Amino acid sequence: MRKKRTGISPVGIVLIVLLVVAIFGVGIAALSNQQAYVREARITPTPSITPRTVLITENPAFPTSTPTPLVLQMNSVGIEVKQLQMRLQELGYYSGEVDGQFGGGTRTAVEAFQRQHGITADGIAGESTLALLYNTAAQTFVPTATPSPTPEYSTLSSGAQGEAVKRLQTRLQELGYYTGKVDGDFGKGTKSAVTLFQKQHGLDADGIAGMKTLTMLYSDAAHAIVIIPTPEPIRVLSGSLPMLVNKEHPVDADFVPADLVDLNTYCDSSLVKIKYSGMQAVREATDALIKMLTAAKADGITNWQISAAYRSFADQQDILEENIKSYMEKNGLSRSKAESAARQTVADPGSSEHHTGLAFDMTVPGQTFKFTEQCKWLHEHCWEYGFIIRYTDDKKDITGFLGEEWHIRYVGTEHSMNMKESGLCLEEYLEYVQTE
Ligand SMILES: [Zn+2]
Repeated sequence: MRKKRTGISPVGIVLIVLLVVAIFGVGIAALSNQQAYVREARITPTPSITPRTVLITENPAFPTSTPTPLVLQMNSVGIEVKQLQMRLQELGYYSGEVDGQFGGGTRTAVEAFQRQHGITADGIAGESTLALLYNTAAQTFVPTATPSPTPEYSTLSSGAQGEAVKRLQTRLQELGYYTGKVDGDFGKGTKSAVTLFQKQHGLDADGIAGMKTLTMLYSDAAHAIVIIPTPEPIRVLSGSLPMLVNKEHPVDADFVPADLVDLNTYCDSSLVKIKYSGMQAVREATDALIKMLTAAKADGITNWQISAAYRSFADQQDILEENIKSYMEKNGLSRSKAESAARQTVADPGSSEHHTGLAFDMTVPGQTFKFTEQCKWLHEHCWEYGFIIRYTDDKKDITGFLGEEWHIRYVGTEHSMNMKESGLCLEEYLEYVQTE
């Protein structure tokens, strides 16, 4: 008996199963897509941002095309550092590992490269260093003897402060020139020490530690202090003629007149006020001054003050320097212009008559001397006591100074009376008596 085929054939069942599976599968996929979309929407609420494409090229054959100037320095890392190290190695500057890490060794190599090529040796490979490095003109490393350290010197002078001054003081102390405190303040003591060092090393003895002085000071050529005995004081009144001091006849830097007295202790303060403590003058001249002011007092002329008397070479240096600085600060002049301006009124060290200890600047406290009765009396009577009015306007071409009505100079009565009578200034008088 023939089996009756009823219902669905086996092929049909397979097809149905396949169909069901397919429909079910699509449903699952759609569902999971749906879930994925929801999740992503939650995470990225602003879907408008489009991701950028970053293209990384690591082709060492093309190292130079960089959009921004490349700077390689300590702690830089990467392919460019590797290239730098390779190039430095090629040229003999670098012997470390080519690891793409910019460390101390790489920096030293960059510095050596820079130094040999005459550019600032800062150890930073910037645009110009890199350009030079990859240029065909880049030189291979030439080893040189280790150069002695060359510290950068900046000029130190009176008023300077800080570590550089401390170093200066320490060095001057080591060599025996400085005996003061190492306090970093460039004062009088430091200046004297610098001046002494300069004198003993054939340098300009200006007390300013400039390039030349500092280079000498820190070099092997710097020698310890050579003690020189204090020079014999000079008897300024021993000759038969007055001593002449001017621009053409300066005194030496170590010139000291004999027989100086301290004016504050030597003079009666009721007769004359001494403006500064420590002021000195030659005894004979001071005796004559006291005699003169006593006579003035008898005439009812009092209230005298001495503003200047003996000055050492170093004092005059200070005065000139202060004057120059004041011109620079107040008038905004350059150093050289301020110098020539100052030299109109301030004598160069060595050429001031105050070095003799025979000159006095007479003043009246708080008044312009020119218009005082004291000035009038002085110009009439100083001659009788051995003094002359040293600088007058009508002799400025000979003396080199404008009139100074306050400045008197002791020459002794014989000469002062002759000069009053003849009307000759000291330069003219000496020429006259010497050719007689
Ligand atoms: Zn004077």
